[in-house]
Amino acid sequence: MFADLHLHTHFSDGTYSPEKVVESGREHGLSILALTDHDTLEGCARAAAACAAAGLEFITGAELTAEQGGHEVHLLAYFVATDHPRLSREMAKFQAVRQDRIREMVFRLNRINIPLEAAAVFALANCNAPGRPHVARALVSAGHCRTLDEAFERYLKKHRPAWVPKYRMSAAHAIELVHEAGGLAVMAHPGLNRSDEVIAPMAEAGLDGLECFHSRHSTMQMEQYLALAEGLNLLVTGGSDCHGESKGRPLIGSIKPPSDYVARMKQRLAARARPGPAAHATAA
Ligand SMILES: [Zn+2]
Ligand SMILES: [Zn+2]
Repeated sequence: MFADLHLHTHFSDGTYSPEKVVESGREHGLSILALTDHDTLEGCARAAAACAAAGLEFITGAELTAEQGGHEVHLLAYFVATDHPRLSREMAKFQAVRQDRIREMVFRLNRINIPLEAAAVFALANCNAPGRPHVARALVSAGHCRTLDEAFERYLKKHRPAWVPKYRMSAAHAIELVHEAGGLAVMAHPGLNRSDEVIAPMAEAGLDGLECFHSRHSTMQMEQYLALAEGLNLLVTGGSDCHGESKGRPLIGSIKPPSDYVARMKQRLAARARPGPAAHATAA
């Protein structure tokens, strides 16, 4: 039994529908799937239904952007309640901020004589949580760039003319929010951050796990993060971070941690739900 716990759909910057993600997951022999769209849980109900129909287990999830020690970190929120009022409010706020950021990126492109319209990006994104990949796609489809990589390289990467910093909440705040919504907070792809010093303070703030298995981690990084997770008593998770076809070939099934890791996640949640002296020790 294998899982893929990091999957995006067209409700954020992926290209697959929730149904397509589930179908691909089944084709790759996976038995547990989690959706982790940026700042939204919108795809989860459909993915859950598709998983139920296909006999797969589904885990609700989202990927939040946060900040720790001046570094941007991505936090995966698993098992959160989809109707939690505060989490829903915070996500709506983040979606509005994402939409403003798109307008600002377009404004900056216009300033350097790239005639793109925000409406074109929103139409193409067709979701509440648009991001840079959508601007890249709009640039390609309007003929301003040949490839998505070129769009990022020339305009959208950090310190390029249309780059706009992202608003982010503190990691401690995000972790607390995820806990309040009944979920587990896991740091996504630590190997892409290259700022391992942020991990221990987040663990102290109640971080539950570390995404040791990720499609862009080398074997050495994977081993290093497994050791780090063990040392800090963090759960281990993993997923492909598949965006469908939006970031090259679909990666679903390329990273498939065994289901034991999911069992440990559930144990931690159950321990937290039980009143007891140690159960809530790290979730202050
Ligand atoms: Zn991420
Ligand atoms: Zn992701």
